[in-house]
Amino acid sequence: MIKAVVFDLDGVVYVGKHAIPGVPQEIARLQKKLPVFFLTNNATKSRKQYVLHLASFGIRTQQSNIMTSSFGCAKYLLDNFGTKKKVFVIGEEGLKSELASVAQAKITSSSDAKFLVCGLDRAISYEKLRNALLCLNKGAHFILANNDPTWPTEKGLAPGSGAIGALLSYASGRAPDVIIGKPSTYLLEMLLKSHNISPSDAIFVGDRLDIDIRMANKAGLKSVLVLSGVSKKEDIASAPPSDKPNIVLKTAAHLGSALGL
Ligand SMILES: [Mg+2]
Repeated sequence: MIKAVVFDLDGVVYVGKHAIPGVPQEIARLQKKLPVFFLTNNATKSRKQYVLHLASFGIRTQQSNIMTSSFGCAKYLLDNFGTKKKVFVIGEEGLKSELASVAQAKITSSSDAKFLVCGLDRAISYEKLRNALLCLNKGAHFILANNDPTWPTEKGLAPGSGAIGALLSYASGRAPDVIIGKPSTYLLEMLLKSHNISPSDAIFVGDRLDIDIRMANKAGLKSVLVLSGVSKKEDIASAPPSDKPNIVLKTAAHLGSALGL
């Protein structure tokens, strides 16, 4: 019995500024029947910003139904190291605001920070990268928002948080101390736990085999691959067993009819 649905966002609900046809309507229909959550590796926005962003596609939800790697980074920092830590951030406003509000982090641009949090940063500069490297070389704890090599945009794939993290890893010779986002089950487990939902009662809908489907399978959710984002139908055959979806759909607009919801 399915009691909740968790949607990935990029490539599942929308690509860039365009909603995937029929998906906002399908989400509205499902929301009348069961809890609907959203989980994204994208760290550029805070949960609050995602409420507004989803509203721009006609999707109504609240902050507690949204899980992001920006919030996850802040929660990880808070739970493991406490408040008021000095943090160097490669990332955008959403990541900084979650770190400041959840963990009361002190965001700094100086290279003596004890923590480096790295996410997608569309205003990245050589100077920022150089200062981040100085932090790492002095032993800063390296928190990577997610390891996605790319993310889908209207113009095609763009470099993701993982690509920036890889640059810093290469330069410093250090792997991240922790990677918050999918395929780690950290964000998903935190979301389900906060709503008292057991993994076997939920389904996850994603567009990447090695990220979304791997996480859903590992966490014990039913996994649904949609073909509206990064992974293609022909990728499924060559995927390892850990990355094979339970269900494959053209888009998430067909979710209810495929699952009898
Ligand atoms: Mg996606």
